[in-house]
Amino acid sequence: MTNKPTPSIIALDGPAASGKSTLGKKLADSLGYLFFDTGVMYRAITWIALQHDMNLRDEAAITQLAQNAQIDIRPPSKDDGRSCDVIIGEKDVTWDMRGEEVDANVSVVSAYANVRKALSEQQRRIGMRGKVVMVGRDIGTVVLPDADLKIYLDASAEERAKRRYNEIIARGEPADYDEILRKVIERDRIDSTRAVAPLRPADDAILIDSDELDVEQVFAHVLSLCK
Ligand code: C5P
Repeated sequence: MTNKPTPSIIALDGPAASGKSTLGKKLADSLGYLFFDTGVMYRAITWIALQHDMNLRDEAAITQLAQNAQIDIRPPSKDDGRSCDVIIGEKDVTWDMRGEEVDANVSVVSAYANVRKALSEQQRRIGMRGKVVMVGRDIGTVVLPDADLKIYLDASAEERAKRRYNEIIARGEPADYDEILRKVIERDRIDSTRAVAPLRPADDAILIDSDELDVEQVFAHVLSLCK
């Protein structure tokens, strides 16, 4: 009997706050793979545009920014829950990029076809090297359609909002559950109805609903799919 080889290219998609990043990081660490959270790239572009008071509706200007921005993603320098450092210029923007303003605007930026083209090309180049867990919305459908294993991690909007709320409170910041829930639903709506690369499971993705499962249970299940 031959054992199936461990998948080398793993695509992990799902809606906002479904636990993809936590799962992806854990999985990558346990397999000795690169962890690549593609949402970071869309967030970084949005953050820069907001910093420069750019008009987010100006598709041409935002596209140009996405084509030229120097975003550096490095291994985590602090043990504060981050999975990587995101550096723009010399500034560490890892948490700024996860703030409310970026949350509220990132889906507008990520809906632009040529922004997606610029960022997807970079993601594909890195993903095709293998030994990678790549996390996003369109990894299994568009970025790496030939991935060896595709997971689509889902959870109800209420559960996802609860998790996001707990994360913010744990960082010692104020949070409003109803507001978070409203924003999660709105971000899902934009992400799943956009014309280019909408959020949806690939036909050959394995669907996991994590409403009733904690991180360890989801991790054990996904690891069993890899081995
Ligand atoms: O995963 P995260 O919540 O950090 O992603 C932020 C946003 O980036 C998403 O709401 C989505 O609009 C966009 N995104 C995307 N495609 C990806 C990853 C993220 O459109 N592969």
